[in-house]
Amino acid sequence: MAEKPIVSIAGLNKWYGEFHVLRDISLDVGRGERIVICGPSGSGKSTLIRCINALEEFQEGEIVVDGIDLGPSLKHVDDIRREVGMVFQSFNLFPHLTVLENCTLAPIWVRNIPKKDAEATAMKFLERVRIPDKANKYPGQISGGQQQRVAIARALSMNPKVMLFDEPTSALDPEMVKEVLDTMVDLAEEGMTMLVVTHEMGFAREVANRVVFMDAGQIIEANAPEEFFAHPQHARTKLFLSQIL
Ligand code: ADP
Ligand code: MG
Repeated sequence: MAEKPIVSIAGLNKWYGEFHVLRDISLDVGRGERIVICGPSGSGKSTLIRCINALEEFQEGEIVVDGIDLGPSLKHVDDIRREVGMVFQSFNLFPHLTVLENCTLAPIWVRNIPKKDAEATAMKFLERVRIPDKANKYPGQISGGQQQRVAIARALSMNPKVMLFDEPTSALDPEMVKEVLDTMVDLAEEGMTMLVVTHEMGFAREVANRVVFMDAGQIIEANAPEEFFAHPQHARTKLFLSQIL
């Protein structure tokens, strides 16, 4: 990689009590790169991306995001969170706030951005995810796919340099998966750096620069999608692919 990676993970180890959940994870992500992370349930995918956003502490190793060092002591938590947007499986919108208020809450209260400016920025991102007409609705009044697009717009409203997605389409009815994936493809085409935990292998083929396969807390293999799907190297990867494809 010629340029310095925007996310650099080195020697990351994490335990939940006695349970060694992340084992010697090292991963560099270049600016504008799209990484898809897959692997069996319980392999540590969510834990890994939650560490990158400082939602989880870890015991060993280093995570550096755009030059900001997040060691095990989780110093610079606020600085890292400023750089990194996160989209969860379960949307996590505030039900008592409108779509627009969901998108302006953090910019106004965390960033001290004037309300009018925050609203203008939020509307720009709601247009980008193609639901500006829902700005004054409450989450309960729109579909799951639309809620997830709001969650994406909300994360973008903080102008992150990196976006993390944890199974963003897993909780959606099948007919809504495509609208969310299309939004993510747009984001990728605009050059956003993305780490996406997903089993949507069509998305991985279309968008990913690299597919990372995790099992039992380790990165088992990482490869360009063409290679990854055509020539998986490890028995565990082959088994996993045979089960989901
Ligand atoms: P994945 O996202 O790949 O399904 P997770 O990162 O959610 O996996 O979980 C990895 C392992 O860590 C699982 O065995 C899970 O039960 C365990 N785990 C997750 N969160 C906790 C926690 N807060 N305390 C203890 N164990 C946990
Ligand atoms: Mg998970």
